[in-house]
Amino acid sequence: MTEFDLIRRYFTRPTPGTLLGIGDDAALLQVNTGNMLVVSTDMLVSGTHFFPDADPFLLGHKTLAVNLSDMAAMGATPRWATLAVSLPEANEAWLEKFSAGFFALAQQFGVELVGGDTTRGPLNLSVTIMGEVPQAMALLRSGAQVGDEVWVSGTLGDAALALAHLQQRIVLSDAELSACAPALHQPQPRVLLGLALRGVANSMIDISDGLLADLGHILDASEVGAQVEFPALPLSPTMGRHIGTARQCALSGGDDYELCFTASAKRHAEIMSIGARLELPLTCIGKVVAGRGCIVHDAAGNPLKLESGSYDHFR
Ligand code: ADP
Ligand code: MG
Repeated sequence: MTEFDLIRRYFTRPTPGTLLGIGDDAALLQVNTGNMLVVSTDMLVSGTHFFPDADPFLLGHKTLAVNLSDMAAMGATPRWATLAVSLPEANEAWLEKFSAGFFALAQQFGVELVGGDTTRGPLNLSVTIMGEVPQAMALLRSGAQVGDEVWVSGTLGDAALALAHLQQRIVLSDAELSACAPALHQPQPRVLLGLALRGVANSMIDISDGLLADLGHILDASEVGAQVEFPALPLSPTMGRHIGTARQCALSGGDDYELCFTASAKRHAEIMSIGARLELPLTCIGKVVAGRGCIVHDAAGNPLKLESGSYDHFR
């Protein structure tokens, strides 16, 4: 199979929302009048972000999902993606499943693959995603206001708990593993929530490095502090049975791909109804305060001692 056969067979699908897609030197894209182009890149490296023998369908899903999550976190409508892949070999069974996982999610959110690059080398998957948002409607990290409530979507820490099991740091039962493994292998990007929060939230980020680290980015960018109530954190039932590890997973575990956002307390009821409409639990976990940094209170209202630190590739 030649490189061009491979691109044609596995990565070329109709792109009706694109002026010119795969096949020329570059793609031609048109954003809707009055909108801004929103662009982000996320790379998945074998051995760093996934196990080398990872299920290729789920890997295809996750490669796009982590990028869609960045669009969600901006309140953007995802439109197009490019895909740069480095492959050790042209394994057709692997490519078939990888592209099926990628395109299943692309189709769910109306994203078109409009280009990329294909080379031989260690397995490495890099997506650049492009979307659009009306002028001045993008949700930035820098918009948090003192008095805002702090919210998160879904549940926290399930992906980190599954990873802890796979790395043999804890032992989950089969039932527990199947309850939390989807969060690790098949995260659901919160695109619809991101769109619903345009004009409602003041600041937003997706949780890829753990709640404390990512909320910390909002606080730094907004030059404010926060108080978070640990008992308010949304934890799945599995977490409740591993409470020792759970605290660390929920606060510092990566790979959740839920959204963390802040909004005026006046928006509380509206946000609850958005959660009900999307059938996605939205939980108020604390508030934005003057000052800097994040304090987490335990059930008695005492500040928790926190080990700092989320994952850092260069530390
Ligand atoms: P060039 O030599 O100009 O870089 P390529 O031969 O790399 O072009 O790619 C040919 C076409 O196929 C281009 O339109 C490119 O965007 C597209 N393409 C290459 N690899 C991929 C891929 N993995 N997924 C989607 N499109 C791809
Ligand atoms: Mg090229």
